[in-house]
Amino acid sequence: MKRLNKEFPDPQAPLTHRNAFELLLAVILSAQCTDARVNTITPLLFPKDRPCTPEDILALGEETVRKIIFPTGYFNSKTKAILGCAQRILELGQVPDSFEELIKLPGVGGKTAQVVLAQWFKQDTFPVDTHIHRVANRLGLANSGKNRDKTERQVKASVPKEHWSALHLQLVFHGRKTCTAAKPKCRSCPLNDLCLWPEKNL
Ligand code: SF4
Repeated sequence: MKRLNKEFPDPQAPLTHRNAFELLLAVILSAQCTDARVNTITPLLFPKDRPCTPEDILALGEETVRKIIFPTGYFNSKTKAILGCAQRILELGQVPDSFEELIKLPGVGGKTAQVVLAQWFKQDTFPVDTHIHRVANRLGLANSGKNRDKTERQVKASVPKEHWSALHLQLVFHGRKTCTAAKPKCRSCPLNDLCLWPEKNL
C-alpha cells in the first residue's frame, strides 16, 4: 500500500461526476463499457452548467435517453435502470447512502452500490472489478479462481478497513497502467518483488 500510495497518491474516481446522482448513472452506464467511453457520453446526458437532477433525466424521456446512451451497449436495460432510478430518487429526495437502500434501486447491483458508497460517500467498501480481481490474484492478495466475491472477502480480510476505498481505486489504476491483462509490464512494476505471480517477468 505504501508503494501504491506513492504511485497513485490521492486516487480520484475515473468516472466524471458532480453529484451522487451523476456518479450512480455513470456507474450504471459503465457496465460492459470503458470509463473513457462513459465519460464521452455523460456530458450529452447531463446539463452543461449544473449537476444533473432526476427531473432532468425524466424530462429527456425514454427515446432520447436511449439514443444518447446507445454507444455504451446494453442500452435497453440501461435506459430502464436510468429512468427507474431517476423516478425512485425523485421520490426519495436523494441518493441513498446505504448498501441496503441502494440495491433496491432499479438496475443497481451490489458492485454499483459499493462503487457509489466508496467514491461518493467515502464509505469503507471494496468493490471488485475485472482489474482488481486480476491484480489481487496475481499479487497473492487473493487466491479465488474466477470468484470475484471471494476476492472481495479475501482482500477485505487482510487489509485494514480504512484503506479499502483508496486501495480499490489504486488497484484499478495499477491494473490499467502496469498490471494489464495481456503483457503486464512486470519489469517496471513497483510491486515486482512482492508479487507472487509465477509468470511475472516472462
Ligand atoms: S509484477 Fe507483473 S504480475 Fe505482478 S503486480 Fe506487477 S505487473 Fe502485475
